[in-house]
Amino acid sequence: MGSRVASALAGRPTSTPAGVSGIAGRTPLTAVTRPLVPALLTPGPALAFGPGGVGLFLTVHDPESGTEVDPSSCTEVPAIIEPPSLVWGVLAPDGAYPDGPRELDATALIGLTGDLLRGWDADVRALVDAADPASAAFFGFHAADPDADFTPWPAGAVTALGDAVHAMPPTGGMAAATAIRDADLLAEELALVQAGTSTIPLAVHRYQRRMAAYAGEAVRTSLQPLRWIERLATPAGTRAARIALPTLAAAARLGRAFTWTGD
Ligand SMILES: Cc1cc2nc3c(=O)[nH]c(=O)nc-3n(C[C@H](O)[C@H](O)[C@H](O)COP(=O)(O)OP(=O)(O)OC[C@H]3O[C@@H](n4cnc5c(N)ncnc54)[C@H](O)[C@@H]3O)c2cc1C
Repeated sequence: MGSRVASALAGRPTSTPAGVSGIAGRTPLTAVTRPLVPALLTPGPALAFGPGGVGLFLTVHDPESGTEVDPSSCTEVPAIIEPPSLVWGVLAPDGAYPDGPRELDATALIGLTGDLLRGWDADVRALVDAADPASAAFFGFHAADPDADFTPWPAGAVTALGDAVHAMPPTGGMAAATAIRDADLLAEELALVQAGTSTIPLAVHRYQRRMAAYAGEAVRTSLQPLRWIERLATPAGTRAARIALPTLAAAARLGRAFTWTGD
């Protein structure tokens, strides 16, 4: 995102502000906070939306009890096993934030998060309030145009990958994965150059073409929840949400929903 190299190659910015920003942080899971974690997070992450276009992403990060990565498989570098935490991220339209949110310190950011979540489930608010202040940060989301040519430059010795070419908000949970996919693809094409069966321009051309086949869809999918946020942020959307959401928040493809309890 905001890559000067990619912008210079493209002759234009490769992404623009998405109109939605977020505050993210981590809450250590302790004997006090763990019982507050909603049961619906047991199978995986959840993303919910409420009145005013405020969204909340929650996921439990507990590498020691998880089975995703076996530490013994880390043979070249030592495994880093982080202590268990609840990772949370609040999303809201840019207009919901005070001026200069980047200047706020972590304690103010957590306080602001509490303000944005007024009316949400009390346990969820207590969890956010118990965050490690050092972990809280503000993020302004950017997005590439999913229909644009991501790499409008001749294939040569310089190209770009990841957020530099297809920035997307984290609302699809796909941005880093897409960057890693790009890197894997480019490495695969460059291995053919090393093997003598391809050239740098051909390898880069093939990488750019193959990347374009999936990156647009990832950006589009990630932007969808932002459209819901925009709709829920209108007066009509907020009224409709107040009627419908006490029982169910709109769930994104990432997972399930949890309850917004009213004012
Ligand atoms: C709050 C939040 C939550 C997210 N959640 C998810 C998620 O759940 N799933 C997901 O897939 N993605 C998620 N993402 C997105 C993910 O973090 C990014 O898509 C991913 O990091 C992009 O990788 P990248 O390598 O393209 O860019 P970056 O990670 O931005 O890496 C670029 C690197 O280049 C370095 N750099 C910049 N300029 C220079 C320079 N001149 N010289 C040398 N180095 C330089 C930077 O310091 C940086 O280390 C989230 C992002 C945010 C902000």
